[in-house]
Amino acid sequence: MTTRQEPIVIVGAGHSGSRTAAALRKHGWTGGISLIGEESCLPYDRPPLSKAVLLGKKTGDQCAFYADSWYAENEIDLQLAQSVVRIDRNAGCAILASGREIAYHRLLLATGASINPLTVPGSDLSGVLPLRTPHHAKAIADSLQHGCRLVVIGAGVIGLEVAAAALERGCTVTVLERAPQAMGRSVPAIVSDAVVAEHQRRSVDVRFGVEIVALEGTGKVRAVRLSTGETVACDIVVYGLGVRPNVDLAETAGLATDNGIRTNQYLRTDDERIFSCGDVCCYDSRLYGRAVRIENWRNAEDQADTAARNMLGQQLEFDAVPWFWSNQYDFALQVAGVPSLGSETKVETIGRSRLFLSSDAEGVLRGVSAIGSVRDIAGPIKDFKGVLARTSSHGSSASEGPPPKPPDCAHA
Ligand SMILES: Cc1cc2nc3c(=O)[nH]c(=O)nc-3n(C[C@H](O)[C@H](O)[C@H](O)COP(=O)(O)OP(=O)(O)OC[C@H]3O[C@@H](n4cnc5c(N)ncnc54)[C@H](O)[C@@H]3O)c2cc1C
Repeated sequence: MTTRQEPIVIVGAGHSGSRTAAALRKHGWTGGISLIGEESCLPYDRPPLSKAVLLGKKTGDQCAFYADSWYAENEIDLQLAQSVVRIDRNAGCAILASGREIAYHRLLLATGASINPLTVPGSDLSGVLPLRTPHHAKAIADSLQHGCRLVVIGAGVIGLEVAAAALERGCTVTVLERAPQAMGRSVPAIVSDAVVAEHQRRSVDVRFGVEIVALEGTGKVRAVRLSTGETVACDIVVYGLGVRPNVDLAETAGLATDNGIRTNQYLRTDDERIFSCGDVCCYDSRLYGRAVRIENWRNAEDQADTAARNMLGQQLEFDAVPWFWSNQYDFALQVAGVPSLGSETKVETIGRSRLFLSSDAEGVLRGVSAIGSVRDIAGPIKDFKGVLARTSSHGSSASEGPPPKPPDCAHA
């Protein structure tokens, strides 16, 4: 292992950035680590924001990965409320908005993703919120008073989690989605239909094929206007329209980007001193025979470990089978692999839970989704991850015909 004077600099003090700092210490790096994040709070776990925090069971502060003291104890130079604005690859240094320059031995870009904004007229009214940070989660949680009318724009995983939490808190909930199905990038229609049925059976009004033209109100949002001329009255609007990877810094530095920061299977960019991981990273996957970018918790966790080891000189290929979960009401959704690569989905039942096995035209299993209790589904999903790890590479024949669309596994 090399030990140079310069620290390893991590840009982005989020999930994968903070986990990489921990992994560097775990794997023996004794040199400096600078962890730089533009948010002002300690690095935190995002999944509870759309679940426990909205239900009032946790505060944003309780989502921090590590206490403040942990960074000092592990000699990690944590710089919060600081953006890296430029990378000087010739000089080998990261330049902060404050003007400070930090020379690096290795650099990790763990800049995550940003929410796609809502752009219709009225989007700037008070009571119109996205959900990505503890600040957003607190504002939404404070508004979800009993009897409040919530409109969720976008039936992605996070939108549906917000709907579930709001209903549990006694709100009236309408979900508006432009596409014909919910969670369209993550699961097949048969799975999203089953999830939507759980919402509808609890009286959530879920509407598809809906175009929103404006939000109305004076100062505060009062209604959502649809292209049909109809309005949906509301007290709060939460939108979840997916995210886009934060590639600007990499692009300006001349690194390759394409739906994320492009890396090889070792999570290394085209500059051998610069690596990437997490939501922003679009890596070469041998499993899928193409570049893949994955937006979920497990990916941020696993890539952090691989990136740390590879920055320390190992050559570990990252090729985990994608896996994510969602909790809504009393059921869990777990998804392994990339079900959207399948063309046919078979259903199996385990007690009161259901498994959905998605296979391609050649009968190769490409993804498994499960809805039900964690006790029923966690074991089978784990087993199927093993099967998918063995079969996916054989099924991805990218050599004939036009290049297939890269899988893009989105939690949002
Ligand atoms: C509300 C919510 C609920 C979720 N629930 C689930 C779930 O149930 N299951 C699941 O599998 N996944 C879930 N996810 C997804 C999961 O949390 C993300 O995939 C994970 O946080 C990605 O980690 P990351 O490190 O790539 O990005 P992030 O955690 O977003 O960290 C990136 C950080 O980099 C910072 N940054 C960007 N540019 C710069 C710069 N130039 N200088 C300094 N700092 C910079 C950003 O401000 C940010 O803090 C959820 C996400 C959200 C938002």
